[in-house]
Amino acid sequence: MDCHRTVFDTLIIGGGPAGLTAGVYLRRFTRHVALVDKGNSRLSWIPVSHNYPGVP
Ligand SMILES: Cc1cc2nc3c(=O)[nH]c(=O)nc-3n(C[C@H](O)[C@H](O)[C@H](O)COP(=O)(O)OP(=O)(O)OC[C@H]3O[C@@H](n4cnc5c(N)ncnc54)[C@H](O)[C@@H]3O)c2cc1C
Repeated sequence: MDCHRTVFDTLIIGGGPAGLTAGVYLRRFTRHVALVDKGNSRLSWIPVSHNYPGVP
């Protein structure tokens, strides 16, 4: 995310897997994205992750 930018193509509300995936794909299509999150993703309940898209 470009913190100095004041105009964005998209505002994503929520930084869980859905929001982060949307952000990755929008950046791949060179869209300028802002993402806000209030910090209580359901991911925080998962003790161990065995794989993640893009990470072998
Ligand atoms: C107990 C439990 C165990 C689980 N275990 C597994 C597992 O082992 N493996 C697995 O693959 N999945 C597991 N899941 C499922 C997984 O956590 C969810 O499928 C996944 O987190 C959903 O992603 P999401 O982005 O849709 O929602 P979330 O992860 O819930 O993310 C939503 C985000 O939006 C933000 N938000 C909401 N409202 C606002 C607002 N008004 N302003 C700003 N931000 C906001 C929240 O802070 C949050 O970060 C588990 C879920 C639970 C509850």
